[in-house]
Amino acid sequence: MSELGNGVLGLFGGTFDPLHVAHLRLAIEAREALGLAGVCFIPAGSPALREAPQCAAAHRLAMVERALADAPGFSVDAAEVLNADSRPSYTVETLERQRRLHGPQRPLVLLLGADAFARLEAWHRWHELFELAHIAVATRPGHELRVGAGGAALDREFTARRGEPADLAKAPAGRIVPFAMTALEISATAIRQRLAQGLSARYLVPDAVLDYIDSHQIYRTPHGH
Ligand code: ATP
Repeated sequence: MSELGNGVLGLFGGTFDPLHVAHLRLAIEAREALGLAGVCFIPAGSPALREAPQCAAAHRLAMVERALADAPGFSVDAAEVLNADSRPSYTVETLERQRRLHGPQRPLVLLLGADAFARLEAWHRWHELFELAHIAVATRPGHELRVGAGGAALDREFTARRGEPADLAKAPAGRIVPFAMTALEISATAIRQRLAQGLSARYLVPDAVLDYIDSHQIYRTPHGH
């Protein structure tokens, strides 16, 4: 991750089943809006709280790597996929690992869409997330981003921790910063459904991801590979 230099580092976890252009726009717009030194994509090994991904972790990682090849300011952390075992990946453990890598002082920002943020109270050891990183939340069509959209405990945290982009560099962790991104009503679920029906996903995913899907014949049947 040294290629992402010093300064505030964005950490973008996801299932990426598959990676699509809204993921890339979220990373680009977070970098611009929040003044990030870079964004590290972290594909989940075996995500908790959702059905098993349709395609193997190695394929999901390969698609992220192809999409980001030569993209300045972005990197991929493969550790969760490479160390995947039968245990779910928990974001709190991902952040503990990132904190060990980057030391206690570097500001780290976990990037989430509004849908993921609204469900935060269900996450393993979720209160500890704020000790490990800031959280920046992107707007997402169909998902409200406001105090009151999550549970009561999350609302209390949102109210107490809400900050501005400029606050991120002032502390290693602890703020919640909403930011607006270009509204893109794109989801990996809808892309998988299109592909399973034999429909095109061109321009919903980067060309490199589409080529990978075509050459490995993933998602083309309802049960995938
Ligand atoms: P699925 O449909 O399989 O749930 P997804 O499209 O939501 O997938 P994930 O890999 O689960 O993709 O998402 C990773 C992160 O990207 C999450 O924090 C999610 O909120 C965010 N995200 C995904 N799509 C969008 C979008 N269209 N706009 C804003 N944020 C998004």
